Amino acid sequence: MVRSSRPNSASSDEHSRIRVVVRVRPPIQEDYDHSFEAYEECVNVIPHTGDNPSKFLTLTRSHTDERDFMFDLVLGSDIQQSSMYGVVAEDIVNDVLQGFNGTVMAYGQTGTGKTHTIFGDIGNFQGINASGRVDSVSAKAGVIPRAVQQIFDHIEQNQEETEFQVTLSYTQLYKENIYDLLDEDRSGKILHLRESSRTGVYVDGLTALAVTSGTHLLDIVSVASKRRVMAGTSMNQLSSRSHVIMFITVEQRPKQTDPMAPDPVRRGVLAIVDLAGSERVSKTMSEGSRLDEAKKINQSLSALGNCVAALSSGSGHVPLRDSKLTRLLTDSLGGNTKTVICATVGPAECNYDETYSTLLFASRCMNVRTHATINEVSDFKTLNLTLQQQLAQAVDSNSG
Ligand code: ADP
Ligand code: MG
Repeated sequence: MVRSSRPNSASSDEHSRIRVVVRVRPPIQEDYDHSFEAYEECVNVIPHTGDNPSKFLTLTRSHTDERDFMFDLVLGSDIQQSSMYGVVAEDIVNDVLQGFNGTVMAYGQTGTGKTHTIFGDIGNFQGINASGRVDSVSAKAGVIPRAVQQIFDHIEQNQEETEFQVTLSYTQLYKENIYDLLDEDRSGKILHLRESSRTGVYVDGLTALAVTSGTHLLDIVSVASKRRVMAGTSMNQLSSRSHVIMFITVEQRPKQTDPMAPDPVRRGVLAIVDLAGSERVSKTMSEGSRLDEAKKINQSLSALGNCVAALSSGSGHVPLRDSKLTRLLTDSLGGNTKTVICATVGPAECNYDETYSTLLFASRCMNVRTHATINEVSDFKTLNLTLQQQLAQAVDSNSG
């Protein structure tokens, strides 16, 4: 039975709405190649006074037509991965370790740094100590390896008095179909979304693997990530055309429990989302099956945009059911989750329209409120997710 309790501290405004960070990547060769005449930049991060990080940027076209934006944080192209992690994801991971749900999501045009931010250099973590903890990650490591390091550091520091269980699920959404990246045999099998009043929206049959250490988790992820569909488009040779969503569940309970009245288990779920490119079809000059693919990718992203627009204006119907992506992210969009969105943009003027559209999306996200509470459950997930969900369904259908 899932129970939610109010957080002890009064939640500040920042913690009761989606946090939005914009990250500007440095120029790369493609920016020079795609510039029609001379390479020009259209994004200007306005430096903040003193050591404070910036919150403002301006977008300009042809040195005129200036638009100003304000976000929770704007990270310039000089910001390294470790600093990015500290301001984007560290607090959310701490919250997950307290039993909250957390979401870290990257949104932006292909080639602007979503995968760099979320994954970075995932296969190159260095140093494994006796308990399999990730001792250090490479300088290029993104959110995932650093979050895993933070989680297992916390576990190592608290394992004397607290019992932990960590499980991993890893899914890909491609052309409005959901696949299980952890299941080698069935990786071509399409999974379906189900809904239960007890567990909310879930992917039926999705693998939930118990992981024993940080290195164990990262090993699994680096193998599974190779199953992600990649295809070259004219915008970026390695552009990914699918959305990937990883769920890391951390459950914990104090060890000294009275067997007659055991402490509840706290369960925090960290969802890490690397979305497909947000650019329009015409820009990538997609043809044939790529066109079909791009339409379906746009279907999920348009639905995401529509939901965020409805949520931010606070009026009318929120079309969460319009795509698999928005159904899967129901909680992350205004539900029981603390969410941070990292919107990535490139600096080049040739991408002005895409950059403007990303910044508009990001601005709308600033108004989306969430209601995170600590999750307490009566016991560890001793059954795997599939079984639990079947049980939940059985209860639902019996009670309905
Ligand atoms: P996306 O996933 O949004 O399509 P990528 O993460 O693949 O984009 O980034 C495209 C290219 O730009 C990659 O070569 C990546 O290493 C580089 N890149 C992206 N962001 C940064 C950054 N902040 N600093 C340095 N290089 C970056
Ligand atoms: Mg990518």
